[in-house]
Amino acid sequence: MKKTGILIAALAAVILIAFVAYDGIFNKSVSVDFFAMNTVGNIKITGKDADETAELIEAKINSLDTDLLSRHDKNSALSKVNSGEDVESEELAAYIKALIEVSEKSGGAFDFTLGAVSDLWGFGGEASVPDSAVLAEALSHSGYEKISVTDNRIILEDRNAVIDLGAAGKGIALDKAKEILSAQNAKKAVISVGGSVLLYGEGDFTVGIRNPEGNAGEYIAVLRTNACCVSTSGNYERYFEENGKRYHHILDPGSGYPAESGVVSVTVISENGLLSDALSTACFVLGVEKGSELAKEFGCEAVFVAADKKIYATDGAKAMITVEAEGYALAE
Ligand code: ADP
Ligand code: MG
Repeated sequence: MKKTGILIAALAAVILIAFVAYDGIFNKSVSVDFFAMNTVGNIKITGKDADETAELIEAKINSLDTDLLSRHDKNSALSKVNSGEDVESEELAAYIKALIEVSEKSGGAFDFTLGAVSDLWGFGGEASVPDSAVLAEALSHSGYEKISVTDNRIILEDRNAVIDLGAAGKGIALDKAKEILSAQNAKKAVISVGGSVLLYGEGDFTVGIRNPEGNAGEYIAVLRTNACCVSTSGNYERYFEENGKRYHHILDPGSGYPAESGVVSVTVISENGLLSDALSTACFVLGVEKGSELAKEFGCEAVFVAADKKIYATDGAKAMITVEAEGYALAE
């Protein structure tokens, strides 16, 4: 009896060691930085084939941009649509349909046809306040209601409208990354593309809300969540100053000028990357009250950092947030 007991214990130990070794060999962790969609990103993965999975994801994000979503790559499906070509793409059509819904439900605060208006401001390059008449002319050719989708074809009712998916592309990239992680049986991953982050796998994650006045990596609050997508839109991301006034890259589609809704950043938490990204932009334009309503309508949670350093959170987000920086406080 005693012998059998020892034998079983020995066997159990061998199995345990084997498992630990298996875990050590197969559940590798990798961290890869990359540049895509005109921004920086990072892929952290734990699990079998982590290296290969990271490579697949980076390649997918690059091709998503160059083949489909980029407005600057002449060969992308979107560029062809913008130049008036007849393009059939089930995938692009699906994204545009989803974004038309965000545009409609946000009362036009989200508008993915501001490409020509954005170009006049020149954010990211030689930026300056555009001439108001030129701006008004470009604005008259924008408007999501000028875009329709029929049989996977995207039709510009106004040939001068310019579709710009800058407010949703990074979120779409996260949805694609999620598909790959799942197909590869990855265990856990954190993938960021600009201000959008995918938290993948079991257990808790923490993600910081950036200090709008600080550098990247400085946080004012922390969110504790399960697997989801978290996107932040902030007025500190791309901006310039002229005559002492700050002009940032999130535009009010009503005026063509930077949105002024009293918030400096909005973070949206959603299962879906496209939604988290598009809604963070929409909620920025709408401000705290209407933005909270919109997030709820899509079943998402949101955190608004106001210019007076008050932080407003939807009920679900209140349960996730811890405010850490001095001077900032959660509003009731
Ligand atoms: P970031 O690109 O910094 O992550 P956002 O996701 O908020 O920030 O997207 C901002 C980009 O979306 C702008 O650079 C512009 O291309 C486009 N954009 C600006 N205003 C709007 C708007 N009201 N609706 C939709 N897209 C917008
Ligand atoms: Mg966005």
